[in-house]
Amino acid sequence: MAELIQDRVEKLKDLDVFVYHGKIYIPNTYTAGIVGSRFLIELRDNKKIMGTRCAECSQVYVPARSVCKYCYAQLDDWVEVSDVGTLQTYTVDGHNNAVQPVKPPIIYGIILLDGATTGLVHMLSEVDFEKLVIGMRVKAVFAEKRVGSILDIKYFKPLV
Ligand SMILES: [Zn+2]
Repeated sequence: MAELIQDRVEKLKDLDVFVYHGKIYIPNTYTAGIVGSRFLIELRDNKKIMGTRCAECSQVYVPARSVCKYCYAQLDDWVEVSDVGTLQTYTVDGHNNAVQPVKPPIIYGIILLDGATTGLVHMLSEVDFEKLVIGMRVKAVFAEKRVGSILDIKYFKPLV
């Protein structure tokens, strides 16, 4: 690695550029914000999926957000949406990497929950790949131990 960096420095030495060598380790913590916190607390404490409704254009955002992306109105009208919805699209991820929440293969889908107008990205399970169909009805399965994370919804499964 050092050799590669030195090679690049040599190639740049006659150019008028600034080169900085370094390594960055950035541990971090960030807030979910007021709206994100309420959304996650409702999942954790009450197994409720909450959205925010826009009084101007009637969009119901799930997860909840503070500003309407269409008309920029402040959103403070909280609504509980159903834990049942319709699968709008999906993909199957077979890659194994550190950021995956569970071991692959993982089915990711966008679910339009009843009462919402925006899709929620989440995982699906308890379904055969061959039986995945856009438009199928699915229901949230909550984790037994909830911690205030979107993964407090463990996954969605077909509604039977
Ligand atoms: Zn709006």
